[in-house]
Amino acid sequence: MKILATDLDRTLLPNGSWTPDPEAIDLFNELTEKNDVLIVYVTGRNLALTENAIKEFGVRYPNILCGDVGTSIRKYENGEWKFDEGWIEQVRKESPGWDAMAIRHAVAGIDAMQEQESEHQNQFKQSYYVEHEKKDQVLKKVDELVKGKFDEVIIYSFDSQDGKGLLDFLPASATKQTALEYVAEEHGVTKEDVVFCGDSGNDIFPLTAGFRGVLVKNADEQLVENVKKAMNQNPKLKVYFAKGDFRGLQGYYTSGVIEGAYHYGVFDCNK
Ligand SMILES: [Mg+2]
Repeated sequence: MKILATDLDRTLLPNGSWTPDPEAIDLFNELTEKNDVLIVYVTGRNLALTENAIKEFGVRYPNILCGDVGTSIRKYENGEWKFDEGWIEQVRKESPGWDAMAIRHAVAGIDAMQEQESEHQNQFKQSYYVEHEKKDQVLKKVDELVKGKFDEVIIYSFDSQDGKGLLDFLPASATKQTALEYVAEEHGVTKEDVVFCGDSGNDIFPLTAGFRGVLVKNADEQLVENVKKAMNQNPKLKVYFAKGDFRGLQGYYTSGVIEGAYHYGVFDCNK
């Protein structure tokens, strides 16, 4: 069995400024049913926002949801979500210095950043909005006060949709990358049989972690650049850049995911 893992916003979901192929989502749903593949959504969205996306865009339910940027994992079985407690235990064990409240106190006085709403926080996720024009000074201050003190990773991404800078503090052991590694291991699937599709900022980790990577055609320039840099440093990395002009699809969003899945043989060309 193979795993097809994908980011949601502007990767599987056509919620950016490019024109999507109208038939792409139905085709994705159909192809993932026909082929023996485990579908994993790896997203910054929490459970409620993921369900909103499924309803709004008509994408199928995943088999597994790595939500909240990888800090929560849920299985979807028989119409119900099951929270993975084993993941919580593993993160606690591997990042013993993690302390969300201590990080909250440490950054409380920094200018141009604002704590996100409570639904975007959890025990392993402390998140902020940042004024994007001031990101360099904010990130410098954040590094001084937090970096290396709490077994954390500091991830900045830019939401091109509404012009907001997003800053996440996560335990180093609970990211999109490590959550997907955990899911693969649980299912006995090697990294070569895991395809991950992304478009921006925090997708860099799973794209350069030894999975088979896919960048949709609308991927951020900065991500494209960073992935190419990583590929130069590590020639073994495999990342496919969706080009479009493929089976009548243009390569943006869902279409790029489909193109990448065919490229790595996740979808059988004869089906
Ligand atoms: Mg995205």
